[in-house]
Amino acid sequence: MTKWVYTFGKGSAEGRASDHEFLGGKGANLAEMCHLGLPVPPGLTIISEACARYYKSGRTVPEELKAQVMRGLGNMEKITGRNFGGTERPLLLSVRSGARASMPGMMDTVLNLGLNDDTVQALGHDAADARFAWDSYRRFIQMYADVVMGVDNEVFEEILEDEKGRLGHEFDTDLSAVEWQHIVTLYKGTIEEELGEAFPQDPQEQLWGAVGAVFASWMNPRAVTYRHLHNIPEGWGTAVNIQAMVFGNLGNASATGVAFTRNPSTGEKELYGEFLVNAQGEDVVAGIRTPQSITEAGRISSGSDRPSMEKLMPEAFAEFRRICGALEGHYQDMQDLEFTIERGKLWMLQTRAGKRTTRAAMKIAVDMVDEGMITEEEAVLRIDPASLDQLLHPTIDPSVHREVIGSGLPASPGAATGEIVFTAEEAVIAEEEGRKVILVRVETSPEDIHGMHAAEGILTTRGGMTSHAAVVARGMGIPCVVGAGTMRIDTRNERLIGVGVSLKRGDVITIDGSAGQVLKGEVPMTQPELSGDFGRIMGWADRARRMTVRTNADTPADALAARSFGAEGIGLCRTEHMFFEGDRIHVMREMILAEDEAGRKAALSRLLPMQRSDFTGLFTIMHGLPVTIRLLDPPLHEFLPKTDDEIAEVASAMGMEPIVLRQRVDALHEFNPMLGHRGCRLAISYPEIAEMQARAIFEAAVAAAKQTGAAVVPEIMVPLVSLRSELDYVKARIDEIAREVMAEAVMRIDYLVGTMIELPRAALRAHIIAEVAEFFSFGTNDLTQTTFGISRDDASAFLTTYQRKGIIEHDPFISLDLDGVGELIRIAAERGRRTRNDMKLGICGEHGGDPTSIHFCEAIGLDYVSCSPFRVPIARLAAAQAAIREARN
Ligand code: ADP
Ligand code: MG
Ligand code: MG
Repeated sequence: MTKWVYTFGKGSAEGRASDHEFLGGKGANLAEMCHLGLPVPPGLTIISEACARYYKSGRTVPEELKAQVMRGLGNMEKITGRNFGGTERPLLLSVRSGARASMPGMMDTVLNLGLNDDTVQALGHDAADARFAWDSYRRFIQMYADVVMGVDNEVFEEILEDEKGRLGHEFDTDLSAVEWQHIVTLYKGTIEEELGEAFPQDPQEQLWGAVGAVFASWMNPRAVTYRHLHNIPEGWGTAVNIQAMVFGNLGNASATGVAFTRNPSTGEKELYGEFLVNAQGEDVVAGIRTPQSITEAGRISSGSDRPSMEKLMPEAFAEFRRICGALEGHYQDMQDLEFTIERGKLWMLQTRAGKRTTRAAMKIAVDMVDEGMITEEEAVLRIDPASLDQLLHPTIDPSVHREVIGSGLPASPGAATGEIVFTAEEAVIAEEEGRKVILVRVETSPEDIHGMHAAEGILTTRGGMTSHAAVVARGMGIPCVVGAGTMRIDTRNERLIGVGVSLKRGDVITIDGSAGQVLKGEVPMTQPELSGDFGRIMGWADRARRMTVRTNADTPADALAARSFGAEGIGLCRTEHMFFEGDRIHVMREMILAEDEAGRKAALSRLLPMQRSDFTGLFTIMHGLPVTIRLLDPPLHEFLPKTDDEIAEVASAMGMEPIVLRQRVDALHEFNPMLGHRGCRLAISYPEIAEMQARAIFEAAVAAAKQTGAAVVPEIMVPLVSLRSELDYVKARIDEIAREVMAEAVMRIDYLVGTMIELPRAALRAHIIAEVAEFFSFGTNDLTQTTFGISRDDASAFLTTYQRKGIIEHDPFISLDLDGVGELIRIAAERGRRTRNDMKLGICGEHGGDPTSIHFCEAIGLDYVSCSPFRVPIARLAAAQAAIREARN
């Protein structure tokens, strides 16, 4: 018989934190907290396998599962001394989803389950508080009708608002028992009207309705989108937690709240959280009432005059603080907690590793190393390499004057500029059109996820640091300001109204998610400093790392940026980019359009000094670090004009007849340029081009060596080789030029000639090519194109369809196709090294900055990865993590 149900409560539990794969994160951690002896309301967890089974068996629940749940309920009744559905001391339940990976706000929770027209009376009697009982009942009806019966929550909100207006009440807490009772009647009436059926009175029916709804919510569009964005497999399913209710809405000695054991925004070691007195569950995150700070320090720094939990409920607070310390020590990580205080007694409802900004993650990891809690290696593993992107975000130039038009809470750091849009849909459209936008909302909900992703930044006028907008933006690394109460959105006229300004859709604003400010217009930004905690983590990463990290850089500016990010050489310098700049394109065109070799050589002799000075610049910046320069790669027609107008213009500048130029352009036209006259094929047709480039490289090496005193060992890379004989031919030319330059300079130059492996044939014949090539660099962009037979430039149209239909999981141009392209790389690396065992191997495609691809490079023993300058820190960290994980394997 399958064990479908795991119980927990009163100091013991059948599960543990390590069972999160089938108990889900929430259930596993509730069990763990019970083992630690913490105050957790008793409950049970239905394993996630039951969700999968639910879908397989036509949305039904197996009988043996029902029996096991009833046994678990019996256990809860024993512990609480209450009865589910009983009319003396009724047991109320919360039914909570909890998947293996945390999916905040994606699934639905039902609270106060078990209430009906009879048990509500009993509850009020038992608690000696009828107001509380009717408030709980209306909450239950509202949630249950929304989540299980599909009645839009807004219907109830409207009824409540109307009633409050009619009665002259400002807050929910102002309503009396009788008034809530009346609202319950209105709610029930509305449900009957809308659905033609009554609100279920049978607690068993309520329970299984809620369990089914949790299973069903696994497939709701919000959850599906979230899983898609976070690569969570559909088959996992969600577990269900059924737990005894505790009540934060039982008067002014009761409260509910959320907290982090350290500040999730800055990482500061300080308890950080928000709570609401006389409230329940979702009130805190819903942004209906603005929550209060739990600590005095937090209250003071937020400038609030509403009392903290520390002041208001000192005993519960002291215990909570103690538990925070215990949980952090136990999990050895910053925790995100949910709790409720019922008439002064603290109850723990959830703990999990807290989401945090990258800056906070760095600080927390470094502090925990200093506190002796975790090792340096562990700290390195704690940082998600892709999240470093956040730190590489620009911030507002500190020297500029800030024209602040509104302020709120600093919910997610970094600054962003964009046009105002008021809906998620507009944000998505704008992104498709390549426009940068700031999504401006009163508050956000899970339906807005798409738009939040598409926006540069998010601004809300309502909500706290734990509101939906704040949590999601931090997770996505998007700058965000929430609760900008000094601003107002005029929905009807589509305006954002701030201090002395009224802005319309399309107007540009800047938000500073670190300061919580909204600024008018576009504001100058500065690049971040990579020192402090970041520097220490990267130092530890560099110590753990085996592979070298180089950069792809074509210009001195790129090379300088990459050096500041810690690049240890250039893995790919694409020389063609140098020919497009300024006047050079004219000389290049002269070369291409020359009638004969003599004409070409004349133009090339004018390009030589330009190339030489480019290379001298790169060599000087790299100061003795390896620099790999690729010979001219693209087909020549890329340098020529295309439209009639351009042709006319170029022809007149060159003193040619337009018709003659047109003929040359047509002659160079190719049906399939990606597979055409390019790469080493050019060097074989026009060796003088490769010779000029080789001369520029060697002369630059001499000049840079003289300037810097550091020996330069250029690595010359021949692109698109598939035959050894191609490389033989080009290498002979390069060697010849090297001899000439060395004789002229009376100086010895060490250099390497190697090739890119970017064609399947080259990978397969690597052992033969390695007889000539002194290094290999895997050009994984072209290798992916040629292995799949897919042109990257045309792929987006069908690759997105492939992904949607589940034909392919990842875009192979973003994350290396390990099975196919990876296999070719593995073969080439093995065969190449068989011929030349000290051969340097590296990767220089876009994949060089992708953590999963980097892990693969580590596993097959490549020497280096090369990526764009801004990804260098990401690659350094990913390479370190790969080395640590491989060593532990
Ligand atoms: P989510 O995954 O969206 O955070 P939860 O299952 O944690 O959903 O429930 C949301 C909130 O509902 C909790 O933070 C808590 O305030 C409230 N809640 C859940 N279970 C209970 C319970 N047993 N007693 C009282 N409140 C509860
Ligand atoms: Mg929820
Ligand atoms: Mg929760």
